[in-house]
Amino acid sequence: MGKYYKSFKNQPKRQKIELANSREAEAILLFMEAGLMPQEAYVKRGQKWKSKCMVCGAIVSPRVADVLGGIGGCRPCFIERQKKTI
Ligand SMILES: [Zn+2]
Repeated sequence: MGKYYKSFKNQPKRQKIELANSREAEAILLFMEAGLMPQEAYVKRGQKWKSKCMVCGAIVSPRVADVLGGIGGCRPCFIERQKKTI
């Protein structure tokens, strides 16, 4: 808690902003990997995030946590993929 704590305490705001930005960048990359383009400012992981599917153009709102867990993404495309595998 000595020196490190002091230097951290001097710039908590900047650290917080950087953390938020990196989370947002991470989430955007995650969504893009899932074929989605976020349409609004970053929300919390447990909330729905409005995005546009880059494959079929549908507007979907999966939760960041769901996409992270591999169960999010575009529902119409998911159904389409299911049809093809059957
Ligand atoms: Zn789609």
